[in-house]
Amino acid sequence: MKVTIIYDNEAYQKDLTADWGFSCLVEVHGRKILFDTGAKGDILLANMEKLSIDPLAIDTIFISHSHWDHTGGLAALLDLKPMRVFIPQSCPTPEGAAEVIRVRKPGRLDDDNKKIFSSGELDSIEQALAVKIAQGLVVIVGCSHPGVRNILHSLAPFGKPFALIGGLHGFSDYQAISNLAVICPAHCTQHASKIQSRYPEKYIPGGVGKVITF
Ligand SMILES: [Zn+2]
Ligand SMILES: [Zn+2]
Repeated sequence: MKVTIIYDNEAYQKDLTADWGFSCLVEVHGRKILFDTGAKGDILLANMEKLSIDPLAIDTIFISHSHWDHTGGLAALLDLKPMRVFIPQSCPTPEGAAEVIRVRKPGRLDDDNKKIFSSGELDSIEQALAVKIAQGLVVIVGCSHPGVRNILHSLAPFGKPFALIGGLHGFSDYQAISNLAVICPAHCTQHASKIQSRYPEKYIPGGVGKVITF
């Protein structure tokens, strides 16, 4: 499994553009899933080009929640190719998608692959993506508005959470992540340095261009 951060508040590779927002490409089980789309389509596509990511090779877009810094690049991608888009129930319908799938409850993303899951829409705002690998669940989050503990709890029926990647907002319930092996706080995470000092052995820095493989 490979996760490449394409859009983030900070740059991990200096030749890439940092901007407020989040997006990453998840390559696993023969799939290329784009998680969120950042704030601006031009920055998203320019970072993809520098990372040698072909947007036409993406098979699915997974939107965590409707906030502008996660959906801003969606129209630019759907202009290139109508794709299948998973959105949380409350999210407005994107124009130009090949198919729009509204997610309300926790469950499998689709039937042809039994290892990719959504937390379901939590707190009427946001869903998280989870991928099952040998070590457990890799959980990818947008802003974690419903709370990390809540998100991990919703995904527990699908496996033991192993890694957490993405925006954690004001998260400070550090005990909730004590059982994880890998934590990559990105985007809007306010207390990344506290997470790092509390769990140095679990911590991985985020930023545009960061590649995490499992
Ligand atoms: Zn955000
Ligand atoms: Zn948000």
